[in-house]
Amino acid sequence: MSTLDEQALIAFRHELHRYPELSNEEFETTARLRAQLEHHEIRILDLPLATGLVAEIGSGEGPLVVLRSDIDALPIEEQSDVSFRSERPGVMHACGHDFHSCAALGAAILLKQQEAQLAGRVRILFQAAEETGQGAPVLLATGALHDAAVIFGIHNDPTLPPGVIGSKAGPLTAAVDRFKVTVRGIGSHAARPHESIDPIVIAGQLVTALQTLISRNAPSNDNAVVSVTQIHSGTTWNVIPDSAWLEGTVRSFSAETRELLSQRFHQIINGIAAAFNAQVEIDWQAGPPSVVNDANWVEFALEQASQSGFEARVVEASPIGEDFAFYQQALPGAFMMIGTGEPYALHHPAFRVNDDVLAPTARYLSELAVKALVKAS
Ligand SMILES: [Zn+2]
Ligand SMILES: [Zn+2]
Repeated sequence: MSTLDEQALIAFRHELHRYPELSNEEFETTARLRAQLEHHEIRILDLPLATGLVAEIGSGEGPLVVLRSDIDALPIEEQSDVSFRSERPGVMHACGHDFHSCAALGAAILLKQQEAQLAGRVRILFQAAEETGQGAPVLLATGALHDAAVIFGIHNDPTLPPGVIGSKAGPLTAAVDRFKVTVRGIGSHAARPHESIDPIVIAGQLVTALQTLISRNAPSNDNAVVSVTQIHSGTTWNVIPDSAWLEGTVRSFSAETRELLSQRFHQIINGIAAAFNAQVEIDWQAGPPSVVNDANWVEFALEQASQSGFEARVVEASPIGEDFAFYQQALPGAFMMIGTGEPYALHHPAFRVNDDVLAPTARYLSELAVKALVKAS
């Protein structure tokens, strides 16, 4: 029977929470995780990673199964009332990646105790830079997932009660695209608008026209979202400015709709700019695709959730983004939502996770890996 020092694991989670680091700056977090792994004599792969690391347990024979956690924090000033609040101004673990990395560490410790009995190898990813969508491609490029049979990932979910693990076959999270549009017109005195090409009027038309992406272009049976979240122009009341810019995001679940929305977005923006005789620049930043769960492996992972003492639930897809999707383009994978039953949403300044769920999640991940090795053999 494997044992886990639950209090030590929770204390380590609080330590990570106290010292959060932004994407690609997780140097101390990586050092802390490395020290924990070394303390438990868990092998760490020698990979060209500036931050983040990959641990391995098991022998060279048999299949390779991968568990993935993420380690980065967000540029948010923490407003939670926990005693281990962030000590770094403007940086916070507001997505619970401290919880994910500790659950993965706990799983590694449990797997290490059964190393001789494992039917293959388990690699445990402590991935950097999830929030910027850069971390997964970097890890894939190291070759650490080459020949892996399956990858499992988790995310805490404040909207599900503790004790519940949720997921579904097919699309689970959205593809995330980000846009910035700059309108260049001609400024003038506010009293002589005929001498201007007014970027504010044009920006208003753009925002209105973009609404038709969802209402008239996206198939009505395939969810998508367009949100304009910033719009800036002008400096005072009696001058028409010469430029305006707006920024926002497009979320979609299928590759076809994602492509369609990108195409129509560019047509609408360029068409309206031409109609009003203005110049536009479109900065379109494609983020991760949709997390698409392998039907067999997600069924297996939900079944294991029940066997590990959780209530397994089939949940709705969610329009959040998650760079785990990049791994699923290379190998089959299943991504699971771990219920924490907390009042604040992901990325909220008062966000919290539920420590009671940490050790059970670690146990679940270790049991999932053990069984997956057998299934993949
Ligand atoms: Zn996040
Ligand atoms: Zn996250």
